Amino acid sequence: MLFDKKFQRKFALSDQGVSNVKNGTAWTVVVNLVVMGGMGILYLLMMQFMGTLTDGAPLPGVLLFSLGALAFVALSFITHYQQYQATYGLVYEEVKTIRVGLAERLRKLPLGFFGKRDLADLTETIMGDVNRMEHVWSHALGYLYGSYISTAIIAVMLFAMDWRLAIACLWGVPVAFALLFGSRRMAERNAEKTKAAALEVSDGIQEALENIREIHATNQEKRYLDALNGKIDAHERTMIKGELATGLFVNGASVIMRLGVATTILVGANLIVSGQIDFMMLFLFLLVITRVYAPFDQSLTMIAEVFLSQVSANRLMEIYDTPAAEGAMTFEPAGHDIVFKDVGFAYDDEQVLKGVSFTAREGEVTALVGPSGSGKSTCARLAARLWDATEGAIEVGGVDIAAVDPEVLLSDYSMVFQDVTLFDDTVMENIRLGKHGASDEEVRAAATAANCDEFVSKLPQGYDTPIGENGARLSGGERQRISIARALLKDAPIVLLDEATASLDVENETKVQGALSRLLAGKTVLVIAHRMRTVENADKIVVLSEGSIVEEGSPAELLEREGSVFARMHALQSASAQWSL
Ligand code: ADP
Repeated sequence: MLFDKKFQRKFALSDQGVSNVKNGTAWTVVVNLVVMGGMGILYLLMMQFMGTLTDGAPLPGVLLFSLGALAFVALSFITHYQQYQATYGLVYEEVKTIRVGLAERLRKLPLGFFGKRDLADLTETIMGDVNRMEHVWSHALGYLYGSYISTAIIAVMLFAMDWRLAIACLWGVPVAFALLFGSRRMAERNAEKTKAAALEVSDGIQEALENIREIHATNQEKRYLDALNGKIDAHERTMIKGELATGLFVNGASVIMRLGVATTILVGANLIVSGQIDFMMLFLFLLVITRVYAPFDQSLTMIAEVFLSQVSANRLMEIYDTPAAEGAMTFEPAGHDIVFKDVGFAYDDEQVLKGVSFTAREGEVTALVGPSGSGKSTCARLAARLWDATEGAIEVGGVDIAAVDPEVLLSDYSMVFQDVTLFDDTVMENIRLGKHGASDEEVRAAATAANCDEFVSKLPQGYDTPIGENGARLSGGERQRISIARALLKDAPIVLLDEATASLDVENETKVQGALSRLLAGKTVLVIAHRMRTVENADKIVVLSEGSIVEEGSPAELLEREGSVFARMHALQSASAQWSL
């Protein structure tokens, strides 16, 4: 059992995968032994012929041997077929299980993880690494372990027949394996380098695609292509170097193993001359030798593959090993006041929030104000458990949110953040994401309330118009109104709002403002405020500076307070609002 677990981790296998490998191993042993059995039939036939030639014994029954050969062919077919099923056949299910499992796992990981592994990196794991492992899962492991076992059985038989010839025949096998295992560190290092170079390439391509407009706008095509070419060349070089080294070791090992043919003939000839064995014994060994190296030849390439696959297996296991953000599946808060209790937070080592305590009450708008980088967005993210606070606690309606499953918790939140994510689907479906199973009428009502009607009516198929990947066919203001419509449809008791999303051109602004006021009525609203108009209308203002609260109170209180930071910010913004071009 313990071995199973270690093995499973080493090769990132599912439970089913482990039993598939066991099955594959068993069938490989059977296949290898059956093939050896074929050699046995050939040997018996030769013995009979030799008997006829030397002692004039009667010729063997042709019918008997034909039947024997036919039975062998049938057996060989059946066992090979079973081996195929047990190796290739089952692996597609395994690949599916692993990919779905990875996606499930990724969904539950804390957002911090996605800072460490970017999109290109994760795509490479789900597609590339799983592909690389596929061959290892399907074949390499089954063939490898199967060959070890069958050769051990055959070796015991050979030793029982003649230990001197057995040594002459098999000495190359351990030497070849030792050579290959000796090169293991080098192979793994090469695999790591190749992987890193491949990731550079996919990162480069993704970056170029994401920034294609900026690249064109700033005439950077040549520079970008040169940089990308450099990365592709570097990848090619590391790959060729790695393949060359692996090829040298694998073929070297194979040649050494085959030196066994020469030593068997030499030793055999000597033994015959000195009368210690008869020719038929040597003949038997020569028959065996034609088959005994074959499984190992395959195994040598597969061992190299297994070494290389370790980099991919480790990358898969890293995802499984990252602790998921989990918690209770029920969330029954008493009201929806959000209470920050002495909250501290660091993204990496750098402390971003220190001793933050405040309450955002239900039915009120609480505005977070402060200079850029003071920690406003971080507070909003912590309030929704997108990250977990490193110190202190955040409670909603008296329940510590760190103890609630993020998905359950988020059903009580609507978020209108800067980065609106839209899917390549129709307007209707993009809004419907706010509430699973909402009817078309509900979606339309929310869209109307969010002032989407006007731009949707101009789209060729209205609400059924596809909007392109991440809403490429929509303007910034339209995207935001879709995201507000989603939030309206969801009608969650807590709304987190990054107001920068609402700072658009004047016409759009009034429309978005109208939509927003409908969204916010009666909710617990935490807004990252940028404009004085919103701030003045807030019920409560929390002023942050360098991750700490410096002032807190109603707008009127803060404006009157002697030397208040808020009053200074207010005066500055009011002055700039009067500037005109
Ligand atoms: P604000 O919203 O007030 O502009 P933020 O909460 O975005 O401030 O940022 C506070 C600090 O945390 C900044 O110093 C910023 O550089 C840092 N920060 C924000 N997001 C991340 C992140 N994902 N990883 C690391 N540091 C971050």
